[in-house]
Amino acid sequence: MNAVPNAPREPWRDDEVLVAHGLTKHYSVRRGLFGRGTVKALNGVSFSLARGKTLAVVGESGCGKSTLARQLTMIEPPTAGRLVIEGEDVAGAGRAKIAELRRRVQMVFQNPFASLNPRKTVEQTLGEPLAINTSLDAAGRAERIARMMRTVGLRPEHAKRYPHMFSGGQRQRIAIARAMILEPRIVVADEPVSALDVSIQAQILNLFMDLQEQFKTSYVFISHNLAVVQHIADDVMVMYFGGVAELGDKKTIFANPRHPYTRSLMSATPAINESDRRIQIKLQGELPSPLNPPTGCTFHQRCPYAIERCRLEEPLLREVDGRLVSCHRAEEVGDADA
Ligand code: SF4
Repeated sequence: MNAVPNAPREPWRDDEVLVAHGLTKHYSVRRGLFGRGTVKALNGVSFSLARGKTLAVVGESGCGKSTLARQLTMIEPPTAGRLVIEGEDVAGAGRAKIAELRRRVQMVFQNPFASLNPRKTVEQTLGEPLAINTSLDAAGRAERIARMMRTVGLRPEHAKRYPHMFSGGQRQRIAIARAMILEPRIVVADEPVSALDVSIQAQILNLFMDLQEQFKTSYVFISHNLAVVQHIADDVMVMYFGGVAELGDKKTIFANPRHPYTRSLMSATPAINESDRRIQIKLQGELPSPLNPPTGCTFHQRCPYAIERCRLEEPLLREVDGRLVSCHRAEEVGDADA
């Protein structure tokens, strides 16, 4: 058995609510006046998510995090690979089963100003999924809505108010209540605090953690902010250019990151850098063009550890020091800087 948490394995265990196996998403795009190209947004991403745990997905914008979110919430199908939710393979599921699986996976978006319908009251926003997916009558729905509003820190007497009558933090509480009202097994949260004032961010993160304790929900928590990740995650998956750079439990990765990209992300986060002065790699340059991906390791043009092999040979995800990492020099990277 693989010792690394979140390493996908087969058969999946009962405590795994979601398993991704080689999830891949390619888009055909227009290139120049007449040509077409392929954008490889996601390249064989594999991981598992344990019940009641939080997997944080970290990386720069353009690394494939949001494409991954669309795959996990079944908004669009993968080009290749498998997604298994509570033992059910989405690829083999019919329309009715997919609709049922979608109810088990809900999403919270970055911007509560855009994700809530301005013409619907809180009561309507929360009542709609209940009316469609449950047999509750009007009184039962009203009772459930009031309970959920209290649970997320809103006042039930404000149920008839519209989104513009709430603050940014309160709107995100409404969006979280909408995601939680059907008590899903999994919530995919895509940068859910990055549009909020810093003073509100901790409150919303704590709300996520309280809800997880109460409902045993599993989270895929997408964030570019490692201070946020350090606060909320059990496990961490660092993504670069549509692939997995490093995957493992939070303590292992934060204590001694083995991928140069992880180390460079950490050195760009002051709160983390202060507590670990070993990590001092500056991230240089931009992400390569997805229409013209580099050969070998996709990070080699920006990596201070790069050697000739990195330009020629793509590193495979492999176990090093209790986590999975895709770097030819992973053993040297951590130890050399420690
Ligand atoms: Fe850097 Fe080479 Fe490791 Fe890629 S494989 S991260 S280029 S050292």
